[in-house]
Amino acid sequence: MRYTGHGSEILGNFDYLIVGAGIVGLTVAWELKRRDPATRILILEKEPDVGYHASGRNSGVLHSGIYYAADTLKAKYCATGARRMREFAAEHGIHCERSGKVIIATCQQDLITLERLLKNARDNGIRAEKLDAGGIRQIEPHAYAYEAGIYSPDTAVIDSPGVVAKLRDLLRGQGVIIHFHAGVNAVDTMRRTVDANQHRYGYGYLFNCAGANADRVARFFNVGKQYALLPFKGLYYKLRPARAHLVKSNIYPVPDINLPFLGVHLTRVISGDVYVGPTAIPAWGRENYGLLSGLHLGESMSIAWHLTQMYAANHQHFRELVQAEMAKYSKANFLAAARKLVPEVCADDLLPSNKVGIRPQLVHLKEKRLEMDFVLEQTADSLHVLNSISPAFTSSFAFAEAIVDQHVQKTAV
Ligand SMILES: Cc1cc2nc3c(=O)[nH]c(=O)nc-3n(C[C@H](O)[C@H](O)[C@H](O)COP(=O)(O)OP(=O)(O)OC[C@H]3O[C@@H](n4cnc5c(N)ncnc54)[C@H](O)[C@@H]3O)c2cc1C
Repeated sequence: MRYTGHGSEILGNFDYLIVGAGIVGLTVAWELKRRDPATRILILEKEPDVGYHASGRNSGVLHSGIYYAADTLKAKYCATGARRMREFAAEHGIHCERSGKVIIATCQQDLITLERLLKNARDNGIRAEKLDAGGIRQIEPHAYAYEAGIYSPDTAVIDSPGVVAKLRDLLRGQGVIIHFHAGVNAVDTMRRTVDANQHRYGYGYLFNCAGANADRVARFFNVGKQYALLPFKGLYYKLRPARAHLVKSNIYPVPDINLPFLGVHLTRVISGDVYVGPTAIPAWGRENYGLLSGLHLGESMSIAWHLTQMYAANHQHFRELVQAEMAKYSKANFLAAARKLVPEVCADDLLPSNKVGIRPQLVHLKEKRLEMDFVLEQTADSLHVLNSISPAFTSSFAFAEAIVDQHVQKTAV
């Protein structure tokens, strides 16, 4: 497809315009270029560089795919995506280590969920080994070995800011134009133009990969009106270096599989530091990384309204989630969550850290539920990635392939 444009005031006419230079936008560009090196692509990114939001602020774990039931998009793309990400890292000299992970049950209820995770592993063709208490101690000597756990040998840790920076450079080398400081603030869907940074750009097809703002960009296309994105804040502590030996690789709890969050875990990241977190505390702004930074009155009021509705409906044990997560603002409660996994961790071991991320979580407004899977919506000339929640980083190369396939299928009809 070649786009020829409509008017002289339009700056550049691109076959593809991608909104957002997070991992999803960048891998979509990568996939488009892989299929047609001559295709003309423009990426518009509102920040000064890549990695300012979720893709540069995550735990850096390449998940195996064990958490997701076989009929989900997450299951479909996670394991393949992780393999392709590892290959990308190996090819381009990005730090990545297949360090494995243990998931440990800490109560009777967890044992039931543990079996469900093992079934997911079988269904999804993922390597996973059931461990007894002795097996857990062999891999993670300091973990709480209640009764059973799972060893996932294919979980890896990666330098995620390094991945997005490398993609930025490689894409530019392939002729992809990336404009920073270019937040999309208007779209003329009839003329196929977008306005950003006081310029107007023409496109043939648009991919909305705007992460926390994907619902807002989708509104320009009259798409996704049944949803809104709510931000959840992920705070981390860092384990005092002298105590980092308490964690060999990754120690995770058994998650509540009704929720899209995995619970506070201990991760030895690629630098060797051990981070404890993240929380999933409701935030009052999509970029509310600090206590008061990134707050806008209108947005905070809208978030408060949606949270109240969700709280009242209480699907997916939402009240329990909010109460448990808000409690983690207190270090004592955060510590308690960490000690469930590694009892030797004490208050002095948890150092404050400036690592914080925000997970934009899609909610279905009428059903008042958190959407658990990736959500894609399309028009004739646009595709919108509306819920790029974890493991979207892990899945990205495979997910991007599916996103481009979906566009090709639709435009071929
Ligand atoms: C605390 C935390 C821990 C996580 N841990 C993991 C993990 O271990 N493993 C894993 O696989 N996943 C993890 N995730 C999830 C993962 O990071 C995200 O799923 C993924 O990064 C989403 O990528 P994205 O490109 O959709 O979003 P983003 O990285 O947020 O990128 C979207 C981009 O769009 C830009 N943008 C927004 N609006 C506009 C606009 N109007 N115009 C132009 N540009 C715009 C933004 O500036 C941003 O750069 C975690 C997330 C968080 C927050």
